[in-house]
Amino acid sequence: MDIDSIRRAAKYIRESENLVVFTGAGMSADSGIPTFRGADGLWSRYRPEDLATLDAFLRDPVLVWRWYLWRISKLKFVKPHKGYKVLSRWYKEGILKYVITQNVDGLFIKSGIKEVIELHGNILRAKCMSCRYRASIDSLDKSSLPLICPRCYGLMRPDVVWFGEPLDESVIETAYRVARDSDVMLVIGTSGVVYPAAYIPFIAKEEGAKIIEVNIEESAITSISDVFIGLKAAEALPLVDKYL
Ligand code: NAD
Repeated sequence: MDIDSIRRAAKYIRESENLVVFTGAGMSADSGIPTFRGADGLWSRYRPEDLATLDAFLRDPVLVWRWYLWRISKLKFVKPHKGYKVLSRWYKEGILKYVITQNVDGLFIKSGIKEVIELHGNILRAKCMSCRYRASIDSLDKSSLPLICPRCYGLMRPDVVWFGEPLDESVIETAYRVARDSDVMLVIGTSGVVYPAAYIPFIAKEEGAKIIEVNIEESAITSISDVFIGLKAAEALPLVDKYL
């Protein structure tokens, strides 16, 4: 283990005034959330790229809703890991100002962090394709599929950004602003290849922020990282916290 990287990361964070965290799917891997690429019984014969698209949904909304409700049912038992607990404490102590995440699992909100920018939406919510009404999945009648809007009886879809869809403009603009204002950006568990999200650490760097990266392997962000910690998120964050 590279203690020097841990110490340097802790020093940057201790001296920061505007710490922002940016994460990808690797942040939730230690909580046991299956990545899209993992083999998963029933659904292994479907590729996410074939289900998480508007075309797939319009072709077979019942199939796509069954896949999402299956993922949501697994999420119910998921607990935020030790790394989430550290970030939640930093947030409550005022050290961490914002989280920008590509994840749709809602684990940051579950951890008690309120300033969370969910670039790709949240699978615990649905939105009506006709009147744009948004609701938590919990509040909707799931006795028959696809889910129907309680307001206008339109077709409801998962409130996530699917492959090939643009991000919500106001969400990405807010994320860019938060990145520009940060002085330290902690990048955790992202390959940095999904755009436009992947611009975020580059924007922070360009505006003078220090970049700390936590990943089990090098990524497209590593070349601009001031500190690279080659550990799992659940191991790295408690260690950095220890040296804070
Ligand atoms: P990604 O492109 O963000 O890549 C995952 C990264 O995490 C890789 O660089 C990998 O080396 C790293 N990693 C893996 N385990 C780690 C760990 N324990 N600690 C630290 N780093 C670790 O993710 P993707 O799977 O290619 O997903 C593409 C899109 O789908 C993204 O928008 C992603 O957020 C989304 N997605 C979200 C979830 C979720 O909400 N939990 C799950 C799967 C996919």
